[in-house]
Amino acid sequence: MTQVFNFSAGPAVLPKEVLQQAAAEMLDWHGSGMSVMEMSHRGPEFISIYKQAESDLRELLAVPANYKILFMQGGGLGMNAVIPLNLLGRVREPATPGPAVIDFVHTGSWSGKSLKEAARYANVNVAASSQAEGFTHVPPEDAWKLTEGAAYLHVCTNETIDGVEYNFVPRVSDGVPLVADMSSHILSRQIDVSKYGVIFAGAQKNIGPAGLTLVIVREDLLEHALPICPSAFHWKNVAEHESMFNTPPTYGIYIAGLVFAHLKALGGVAAMEQRNIEKARLLYAALDQDDFYSNRVDVSCRSRMNIPFYLRDESLNEKFLAGAKARGLLQLKGHKSVGGMRASIYNAMPIEGVQALVDYLNEFAGR
Ligand code: PMP
Repeated sequence: MTQVFNFSAGPAVLPKEVLQQAAAEMLDWHGSGMSVMEMSHRGPEFISIYKQAESDLRELLAVPANYKILFMQGGGLGMNAVIPLNLLGRVREPATPGPAVIDFVHTGSWSGKSLKEAARYANVNVAASSQAEGFTHVPPEDAWKLTEGAAYLHVCTNETIDGVEYNFVPRVSDGVPLVADMSSHILSRQIDVSKYGVIFAGAQKNIGPAGLTLVIVREDLLEHALPICPSAFHWKNVAEHESMFNTPPTYGIYIAGLVFAHLKALGGVAAMEQRNIEKARLLYAALDQDDFYSNRVDVSCRSRMNIPFYLRDESLNEKFLAGAKARGLLQLKGHKSVGGMRASIYNAMPIEGVQALVDYLNEFAGR
């Protein structure tokens, strides 16, 4: 088999060991005679897979007992609607007159999409934005114009397209839940779940196949859905049925479970974080060496997962990509909205892959 390194932003590279195990178990899971894909979600075999995945994830992220882990569908964009539908029914403390306001910090494409969708359900206040500066940083927290009694504050803690990552947990007033889109960096660094009301993530980067969407929600926030919230997306309903109110994405949960077990065997999230710091350091150092390449993000909030970069001479873009492909370095083309290049180096990207990219960057730059 050809050795390649896949830098796709998602769906993205998965650990080889996980894919090998899934292949070995494809036709007959643990002597059951069935593929996981063929199992009833209510049967004892799948229930055991689900329970193990849930408890391994709880352990990996040290999820406190008063938080529910929900395995859902709908993707990150689906959640942009599901969140307001689940949270806007809340009686706000302190009691605030007028319609509900959702606070947003606009740091890139994904928080931008989230706020646009939320505006269909409530008034949106952009508490801070780095749009005018081309989304190159997280606006300093002391300049955020938060709304007293906001329904919640929504942030995207890693902007996959813009390559901007939070290196702090935003402060919120008492009673204002903090909602975080962690789609593209969950499990890549240690987090304090207790600081958040809701954490959500599409699976297709650091967790498993597309189609599974993870929600971690504090229990008291299960009570605030609007009456029009669809039953299958009503978190309380989903939690009460242990993610089986309707048929969950069973195969995705199975693969996610294999990924969680794999991460535990590697030393958990703390160990992944150390590896990710090292991988990002290696790549940024090559990009920063001279002005042949550039990454425009403020050094304090450069993403460890998604690293957009530009060639000084953009007429060389196609040549760069063709040369990369010839070396098995795949999917380096930047998102169409921003152009340039992007290397996504999720947990499953080995350091050898980053080193191979660095070698190619140096070679192409004639260093
Ligand atoms: N949020 C972030 C941070 C993302 O990177 C993405 C997808 N790349 C989404 C949301 C949207 O996810 P989906 O396509 O699963 O709806």
